[in-house]
Amino acid sequence: MSYQALARKWRPKNFTEVVGQGHVVKALANALDQERIHHAYLFTGTRGVGKTTLARIFAKCLNCEQGMTSSPCGTCGSCEEIDAGRFIDLIEVDAASRTKVEDTRELLDNVQYSPTRGNFKVYLIDEVHMLSGHSFNALLKTLEEPPPHVKFLLATTDSQKLPITVLSRCLQFNLKRLSNDAITTQLKKLLQAEEISFEKNALHALARSADGSMRDSLSLLDQAIAYSDGNVTDIAIHEMLGTVPREFLHKLMQALANSDSAAIMQATQELAQLSADFNGLFVDIIEVLHQVALSQAVPSMLETLEFDAALVKELTGSFSPEDVQLYYQIALIGKRDLYLSTTPQSALEMTLLRMLTFRPTESTKIKIDVAPSPGNTLKKTDTTQKTEKKIKESSESNKAGKPNKNASLKDLSENNEEWPKLVEKLGLQAVSYSLASNCSIESITDETITLHLAYKHEGIATKGAQQRLEKALQEYFGNELKLIIEISSNQLETPAKKKDRAREKIQSQAEKTAESDEAVKALKSQFGAEIIEGSVKPL
Ligand SMILES: [Zn+2]
Repeated sequence: MSYQALARKWRPKNFTEVVGQGHVVKALANALDQERIHHAYLFTGTRGVGKTTLARIFAKCLNCEQGMTSSPCGTCGSCEEIDAGRFIDLIEVDAASRTKVEDTRELLDNVQYSPTRGNFKVYLIDEVHMLSGHSFNALLKTLEEPPPHVKFLLATTDSQKLPITVLSRCLQFNLKRLSNDAITTQLKKLLQAEEISFEKNALHALARSADGSMRDSLSLLDQAIAYSDGNVTDIAIHEMLGTVPREFLHKLMQALANSDSAAIMQATQELAQLSADFNGLFVDIIEVLHQVALSQAVPSMLETLEFDAALVKELTGSFSPEDVQLYYQIALIGKRDLYLSTTPQSALEMTLLRMLTFRPTESTKIKIDVAPSPGNTLKKTDTTQKTEKKIKESSESNKAGKPNKNASLKDLSENNEEWPKLVEKLGLQAVSYSLASNCSIESITDETITLHLAYKHEGIATKGAQQRLEKALQEYFGNELKLIIEISSNQLETPAKKKDRAREKIQSQAEKTAESDEAVKALKSQFGAEIIEGSVKPL
């Protein structure tokens, strides 16, 4: 048998085989089953999503010898001829090559004659936006009052270029770009049917390169099968596409998790030798971090991951949510500024080093003090050594300044004024700090501290922040205190409010001073000057 391109061989022959366009298929099938057929349909959407395929299936539904149906038999003469592209009553035109008005007139000359074989004469005009203005006018006349046996199926990648008069006479269906998952699933099904071996990650890479187009993905797959000699592996695909193999992404992310700058440098050098696509790698890093963040927020997400599941699972455990958010942001900025750097390699190196440099100290502390990675025999880098040193220093200074435990807990229970001072001493950061700042003391016993949090700040009382605050309190008072946070609508005194008030006081003083300044007074009286509200800043 002669070789046939996959895109042609696997072109859907009925509605059930069409992938990812359920909304259009449903509408068309219902119209057919209820025999409510409009005289003109317009299919819009990017290349390779199934516009002409749907139009051909629709033509088959109209002309099947078993009668009009949403599931054509596929075996009668009409069905077979339409599949083979030689059905006399399906007139396919590529508007891109026949833009002139003479072409359109010639095409429409035969409109009034009845169909030769089928029930309907179907005009399928592809890339209809390429027609000239006069051609559209010629077409418009027929579109206004077509004979009952004529159906127009128009397809375009650019519906904005169609005259509004044409648009308003068609039923318009917008075909979606296909999701990577939909493409991957289809490629997998097809390779299994063709009995060609493959790696899952390879299909994922192909789907991403196809950018939402099923036809592109099948053409790439054709190329990949030839390139890899019938064994579609991840490495082969990345060689073919010039993208970065998953293996490198794993290496880089693991090095990041271990704060191992030496390993990062080594991997980026290898990548540079491969002339890898660094922009694509940035996209990969951002995608993986996104998956990790989702998995941390909703652990059940891990079960549904088809790709990079092992890596995402590992990273979900080794990064804190704060790390992931920070890395994601740094990666986004790194990708944005890629073109500004001298070489793509240096851009990647700087981005990854920036991630290590700005890694939140709190989480580093937890990682180093509480859970040192047992298998990590890699040489520690300057960055981590420095961080460790800093942490040591800060924890030592903490110890030195630690007050008598029980006495201070007692002070706290009697005096709400002590809470703001305590908050500053706990060494909290980010969310846990703002949580503590917006709380006030409700009650204290030997085992529990109950704090009040205003309803409007409920969002910052995350589980992580509560745990860190509880841990800080336990460390400070040196016993197994339990932290309870009660949300209420009462407005109570909190450290944050106290600070706000102090700021307001300084501000109003500054404004008063400005008002009473002689020079300002003179400007006001002589030139009618006014102080712009909010422009006075305290020194
Ligand atoms: Zn049929």
